[in-house]
Amino acid sequence: MSTPNTPDLMQKIVSLCKRRGFVFQSSEIYGGLKSAYDYGPLGAELKRNLMTEWWKDMVHARENVVGIDASIIMHPRVWEASGHLSGFSDPLVDCKVCKERFRADKAPRAEAGQALTLTYADKGAAKVAEELIAKQFGVTLTRDGKDLKGAVAGDRGYVCPVCGSPFLSDERQFNLMFKSSIGPVDPLGAVAAAIEAGTLGGLTGRELRSAIEEITKPTAVYLRPETAQAMFVQFLNVQQSMSMKVPFGIAQMGKSFRNEITVEHFIFRSCEFEQMEMEFFCEPGTDDEWMDFWCKARMEWWQRYANEPGKFRFRAHDKSELAHYAKGCFDIEYDYPWGWGELEGIANRTDYDLKKHAQYSGAKIDYFDPTTQKRFVPYVIEPAAGATRGLLVYLIDAYHEEEVNGEIRVVLRFHPRLAPIKVAVLPLVKKEGMPEIARDLVNAFLKRGINAKYDEQHAIGKRYRRHDEIGTPFCLTVDGESAADGTVTLRDRDTMEQRRISIANAVDEIEALLRA
Ligand code: ATP
Repeated sequence: MSTPNTPDLMQKIVSLCKRRGFVFQSSEIYGGLKSAYDYGPLGAELKRNLMTEWWKDMVHARENVVGIDASIIMHPRVWEASGHLSGFSDPLVDCKVCKERFRADKAPRAEAGQALTLTYADKGAAKVAEELIAKQFGVTLTRDGKDLKGAVAGDRGYVCPVCGSPFLSDERQFNLMFKSSIGPVDPLGAVAAAIEAGTLGGLTGRELRSAIEEITKPTAVYLRPETAQAMFVQFLNVQQSMSMKVPFGIAQMGKSFRNEITVEHFIFRSCEFEQMEMEFFCEPGTDDEWMDFWCKARMEWWQRYANEPGKFRFRAHDKSELAHYAKGCFDIEYDYPWGWGELEGIANRTDYDLKKHAQYSGAKIDYFDPTTQKRFVPYVIEPAAGATRGLLVYLIDAYHEEEVNGEIRVVLRFHPRLAPIKVAVLPLVKKEGMPEIARDLVNAFLKRGINAKYDEQHAIGKRYRRHDEIGTPFCLTVDGESAADGTVTLRDRDTMEQRRISIANAVDEIEALLRA
């Protein structure tokens, strides 16, 4: 019996994450911080393993890809050139009935004139909404329990994602970048000084805002909202220092920050998250081929570690969704408990970014191909994945419940290379030399770089369940025969099968299983 893919599954995963040390709410004892999460001891291992696998596959295994680790705070002109400062903003709308604030581009679609049903938490809430709509908009709806009927969609093409109402505010832009300041000058001090000097007197609200923006501009810096820009900005340095020949890629993984309006579904969308991105520079004309190549490679990578590869799919962006500079974009989507959603975007960004940075910085950014003697600005294919979102995907994929001897066994079926702990070594009892043999085995694993844990607390069955629940793929049990015949029991997490293996070969054997 595996667990059905329902919203209820998310509650189980969130609770397991807290109970077993994968993910905690940030600053929980202070009431938590909206959409900020801390990765606990097991979550930190899982995230590290996932990102290491990505790095090994994208950088180490490819001669034509190199990695960088750039700073999170970059020159503010970078964000002007990339369009983030003016354009990295979402169209934001408020529902005038239920007060939900949401992104217009993510809201449920509704054709103009389409009949709508508005739904509220209970009959009482529906009555309040009915009265508000009648009073504020002069529209009379009919109430049927929690539902209100008789409204029709307007021509903006979407409705409130929570109650389904078409009674919405205008769209407003909202900058997603976190702003800070750098250097010894206190920007608020500079504003206060300007007020004191009277230079801000008599200005309208809008003028005042832009005057203050001008004053704070020299010290303003931003936390990067994506890792990608550093790869464009360092294109020349990387290409020249490493003598890279186009086609080649620059990869980076690390933190990104977006002041998201709607944070949702646990770590799916948070304000601080991690990305794994690669910019692949190729000759114009070869870009379609490379786009195909990277789409296949990336899909194959996600599926490689999954129990259910059928829950990943491609979704091509239609023309209306494409960024104006992008030639094409495919999302790799996953079937989350709440439906299909993005996990990675693979975009053909053309030569837009390199040209923009050349224009804004004044640097000459192009490539001379010594073989063809051609000079050109490379096109870029960008596979941009979420690391923390990927972690959530593999938690969902791994979570299974099954009935064993009348009890529910919860097991995280992580791919062994992702599992936080690879092997648990368990002395059957805490005497007769068993703990010593077990500790020696743990040390042998650690020496080989395999994360092993010694565990002697509680009955053996309970220990197996505990390791099932955190996804430890292998348990080795040291028992009364171990000292005499030099063997231990190897228990497989998924099949629960047990077999005896020799202590002398245990590390080699587990290492081979991890490599498989
Ligand atoms: P979405 O449509 O979900 O907002 P996006 O198209 O804005 O995502 P990109 O800018 O393409 O996302 O970023 C690449 C990847 O980074 C996404 O596919 C996703 O996995 C991850 N990502 C983006 N925003 C967030 C976030 N706020 N929290 C967690 N992961 C994110």
